[in-house]
Amino acid sequence: MKALEEKILAEGTVLPGNVLKVGSFLNQKIDSDFIMEIGREIARLYAGEKITRVFTVESSGIAIAVAAGIALHAPCVFAKKHKSANMPKDVYTAPVYSFTHREMYEISVGKDYLGADDRVLIVDDFLANGNAVKGMMRIVEEAGASLAGCAIAIEKGFQGAGDELRAQGIRVDSLAIVDSMTDESVVFRAQ
Ligand code: 5GP
Repeated sequence: MKALEEKILAEGTVLPGNVLKVGSFLNQKIDSDFIMEIGREIARLYAGEKITRVFTVESSGIAIAVAAGIALHAPCVFAKKHKSANMPKDVYTAPVYSFTHREMYEISVGKDYLGADDRVLIVDDFLANGNAVKGMMRIVEEAGASLAGCAIAIEKGFQGAGDELRAQGIRVDSLAIVDSMTDESVVFRAQ
């Protein structure tokens, strides 16, 4: 998605530890019109898939997942990272190692919100080492739902998880794939 690549070049900054900061439009401050463009692009890619759930993990995946859910006319479900009093009792869980926080946490989803009849599209803002996506895939499997694919805004291709998942036959669509990045430049994979 050309517009996303241009936005990354204009507003993204590279932080130590291979972190791309896009807080000005995707994470902390969300460009509402642009997030809807991303949602429509994801919906275009999965138009024929009869998606019944767009699935993400809190918090940075939610905006994109809701935008895609609006465009696909499908509910968005997000996995929680923190236990809370209003969490349903019966939950699917999966352990995930956080790339940005460098620690293990558990994601969970109420069993009422995802089930065997669902056709699921996993959505996230970034694909780095693939731990978040793999945790979500585990929950989709546990629910007995079918996975249509994974739609990612920004894949860091140099971290390898996207290609690893594709090699396993899993559909992964990334709107921008960063092949390399330094303080001075961000290079995208031609797609
Ligand atoms: P993974 O589990 O694939 O290693 O990392 C994906 C998760 O970590 C995403 O949900 C995202 O929130 C976060 N993440 C990974 N890399 C980056 C990055 O370069 N920038 C930002 N802002 N978040 C990232």
